[in-house]
Amino acid sequence: MKYGREKRLTAGASHFIGVMEKCTWCVHRVEKGLLPACVAICPTHTLHFGDLDDPNSEVSKILQKEHWFHLLEEIGTKPRVYYVGGLPPSHSIARTLGVGEKI
Ligand code: SF4
Repeated sequence: MKYGREKRLTAGASHFIGVMEKCTWCVHRVEKGLLPACVAICPTHTLHFGDLDDPNSEVSKILQKEHWFHLLEEIGTKPRVYYVGGLPPSHSIARTLGVGEKI
């Protein structure tokens, strides 16, 4: 389904077989003031969504006090997903194998 002025593809229809798609941030829900579906139904409240431009938002406060990292930031995609706690997977692999070891 194409949604909004930008005609973004949202979940449910108009998808192409064999074409990779990605998260739409549930624009059809967020524009109605709802949380993204995965955030709303997460039974352990692991996922958070909010306004990083608002320093008083829940997500801003979490990122101000917790350690976080992005995935693949070094390739210049300007990710907006923050992983809180732990280390990026590349660090975990390096720690397990020893830096410089081949898999
Ligand atoms: S349910 Fe979550 S992962 Fe799926 S499109 Fe919505 S925000 Fe993205």
